[in-house]
Amino acid sequence: MDTHTPYNCNDIARLALTMHGHSYFFSLRRHLNINFSRDLNGSGTQGLFIKKQNVDIDLIKVIFDYTDNKNDDFLYEADLIKDQRKNYEPTVNRGKHRFVAKQIELNIDWNGNEIQQWRADIERLTRSHDNLEDWLKNGSEMLVCCASGFFCRLPTILTLNDLKQYVAMGVTLEDLKTRLKCSKCGKRGSKVTVF
Ligand SMILES: [Zn+2]
Repeated sequence: MDTHTPYNCNDIARLALTMHGHSYFFSLRRHLNINFSRDLNGSGTQGLFIKKQNVDIDLIKVIFDYTDNKNDDFLYEADLIKDQRKNYEPTVNRGKHRFVAKQIELNIDWNGNEIQQWRADIERLTRSHDNLEDWLKNGSEMLVCCASGFFCRLPTILTLNDLKQYVAMGVTLEDLKTRLKCSKCGKRGSKVTVF
């Protein structure tokens, strides 16, 4: 276990935050549960917890606290939510604040294969994919979300094989985007992302 390592505290927090931004990928393809809590104990601290599915140990745990110091190297901005530790009172939104990492717990080898894999995943997921050939070249699948939003239906995934077939048929990314239609609400203009 590696706690309070000042050298890479922010590196760990940044990796965890970026993974949280790709939770769906890491849930489906790396079997991780990534949970964010925006008010841990009523005092406005926030927490990010990354576990293996079905294993109740935090591989990465980051506790964030808000800062009013403009010189602090903050990690993100978010609404500060508090219930002043009075569970019987409604939570109060105190508006946008800057958050810094306050405590880190790492129960996985920072230089081990799994973290290397996650970094490679993020590098690929954030790389620009301008056409279907880019998808094939990068070995990326395609996540297709309904234009009405995530809550209409779960996204569908076009596999590498699906994409290969489209390319073989001469379908371009633009063609594909106009063709895709939500099977539940029928809306066109589905949102596609790298997966
Ligand atoms: Zn839909």
